[in-house]
Amino acid sequence: MSVAIIGAGVGGLTAALSLHAAGQEDILLLEAAREIRDVGVGINLPPHAVRELSELGLGDALEKVGVPTKELAYYDPKGQLIWAEPRGLDAGYRWPQYSIHRGTLQRLLVDAVRERLGPSAIRVAQRVTGISSTNNRAVIAATDLFEDRPVSYTADVAICADGIRSPSRDSLYGAVTPLASNGWVMYRGVTRAGPFLSGRSMVIIGDETQRVVVYPIADGVINWLLVRPKDATRAETELGNWNLPVPTNVIAEFVKDYRFDWLDVHHLVSSSSESYEYPMADIDPLPRWIFGRCALLGDAAHAMYPFGSNGASQAILDARVLAYELATAATTDDALRAYDAQRRPVASEVQLANRRQAGDVMARVSALARSGAHGDAKAELQDVERRYKQLAGFDVDALNTRKSWSVSDVSR
Ligand SMILES: Cc1cc2nc3c(=O)[nH]c(=O)nc-3n(C[C@H](O)[C@H](O)[C@H](O)COP(=O)(O)OP(=O)(O)OC[C@H]3O[C@@H](n4cnc5c(N)ncnc54)[C@H](O)[C@@H]3O)c2cc1C
Repeated sequence: MSVAIIGAGVGGLTAALSLHAAGQEDILLLEAAREIRDVGVGINLPPHAVRELSELGLGDALEKVGVPTKELAYYDPKGQLIWAEPRGLDAGYRWPQYSIHRGTLQRLLVDAVRERLGPSAIRVAQRVTGISSTNNRAVIAATDLFEDRPVSYTADVAICADGIRSPSRDSLYGAVTPLASNGWVMYRGVTRAGPFLSGRSMVIIGDETQRVVVYPIADGVINWLLVRPKDATRAETELGNWNLPVPTNVIAEFVKDYRFDWLDVHHLVSSSSESYEYPMADIDPLPRWIFGRCALLGDAAHAMYPFGSNGASQAILDARVLAYELATAATTDDALRAYDAQRRPVASEVQLANRRQAGDVMARVSALARSGAHGDAKAELQDVERRYKQLAGFDVDALNTRKSWSVSDVSR
């Protein structure tokens, strides 16, 4: 079976590795970028994602570059603890939770793809412009950006993993999928700084008016992000663009009161080496992911607000399930149907849960904390987190005991 994957992001690369591990040989990745650069800032991989990458033989590589998150702690805007819980191995999972630079994760996956599938498995500068499915073949139209000429590809199956603004999704739907926004902006950056709290803590500080998330992503490197309503004085920004630089002093002003004896957020933000603004964007859950021999995967299928550390994780789960089904189902069409049936309802629920996290959950918790009812706020958060883990696939018992999506000795 030949498979073409559109997009060499976390989803597309994991799909390539998963298909290869499941016995597929003929895999080609088409990537629009002229070269694959280590872009982005921090990303967090909870144990359900780490399990899949470990089962693809990447556990040792991740251990070398990721920071194993020890705890997640919520604080009110005055720096008072509301609730903390252990994470990863400390929480009883069989797999760690890692905080990592997104570029480092992508580089690790690219290196593994090139090593296992061959140096030419990823074809860069191929911008896909259209896709269709006819006579059990996927037909892909693209532009070769090096030579500035149209090119086309065909494959038995095409996996559309070209991100939140997915041109291939729009081509399959015959219309542009609108990006939704709640009018909030995420400011993100990294700073060279020493450890805080346990040295492996991930903290969320704030209330319904703004929240800061801070965690280390490497030795001496701290990732931070601030989410708050768009400032009226800032120009309109492009939805779905992860790489809009922003002057650090603009963001530092928003956190001037966030100076605690256990972490000086203002100092962290002001001394940041790079900062970006990302207008919060997602898409509504989609009614279908499968169009003949074309399947949507990752952000193309379920772009979500970046809350709950599940954007990349759900893409990784998609990749593993799709590869498993393609290797084990009776027919390719059955496999694609089974992939859709397993993954679309779950990812759709996670999209909606992330919208709730962005809004009413924080409002309820903050109101309780403000009235001094920290115990009730804690109970509320605990309950939300428990339900979110069940939904997104990282309830500790369920994850530790569910069967693997690894396939051995399968050839089709
Ligand atoms: C540049 C960038 C920076 C990011 N930074 C962060 C971050 O700091 N923190 C965070 O949590 N998340 C970040 N994300 C998002 C996060 O990586 C994704 O939510 C998640 O990993 C899902 O991955 P994906 O593979 O579905 O999509 P993506 O990671 O978005 O990958 C999509 C890939 O498809 C390629 N592509 C797009 N259009 C075409 C086309 N027409 N033809 C061929 N290829 C195409 C893109 O170049 C990209 O490589 C970033 C994404 C990008 C693209």
